[in-house]
Amino acid sequence: MNPKSQPSNLGHVPPLAELRDLVVGLRHHLEEEKRLGLEGWPKRSSSPRHKASPQPLVVSASPITLEAVREELGDCRRCKLHSTRTQIVFGSGNPQAKLVFVGEGPGRDEDKQGQPFVGLAGQLLTKIIQAIQLTREEVYIANIIKCRPPGNRNPEPDEISTCEPFLIKQLEVIRPKLICALGTFAAQTLLKTEEKISLLRGKFHPYQGIPLMPTYHPAFLLRNSNYKRDVWEDMKKIKREYEQL
Ligand code: URA
Repeated sequence: MNPKSQPSNLGHVPPLAELRDLVVGLRHHLEEEKRLGLEGWPKRSSSPRHKASPQPLVVSASPITLEAVREELGDCRRCKLHSTRTQIVFGSGNPQAKLVFVGEGPGRDEDKQGQPFVGLAGQLLTKIIQAIQLTREEVYIANIIKCRPPGNRNPEPDEISTCEPFLIKQLEVIRPKLICALGTFAAQTLLKTEEKISLLRGKFHPYQGIPLMPTYHPAFLLRNSNYKRDVWEDMKKIKREYEQL
């Protein structure tokens, strides 16, 4: 065994939050196994080894905590954005959120502070969340990409394909009941479509079995305040669904 993996203090008690995450993660994992019919240990077959048998269902192990996803991401240098970023912006909020907001990628303020949506657009997002009687702490906020593109240019396809799997893992851990995609980029990336945001918004679309509401990006609203009415309509739909959960 790697000596580094040995507990340094056998009397160490994990903090409560860590224990809670572990239990929640395990519960998700067991529920997923149950859903896939993988409960319990596989029984040894009594049939001869040479007898043809169906291939076992291969299920890729999904991480059970956000900390595990963060650890896997590490000091990511998988794409070129690592060379211009200040820091990775992983995501923030409730690991058991029923509602997850997904934006495009960190801007200058987020790159500086290491938190998503903390600049002007972020302040507007905070107000939007509060308008549906929720707080940033109750929901989870993440982005399609985790590093700021230089000069806030649009993320490039190789950057998305490298980074998106980590967002997918975050969503697998959180297992939200609702997702709100903020802006064209998040909506088109998650829904794998090139449809305009103006046509996508206003209704729920299935994303991995989760209802996803696309709406306008708060940065767009800062420049086009007449679209706030549409966002409010979309938020009311989210709120209605949220209240049924
Ligand atoms: N815009 C985004 O899409 N994400 C952020 O985190 C900040 C601004």
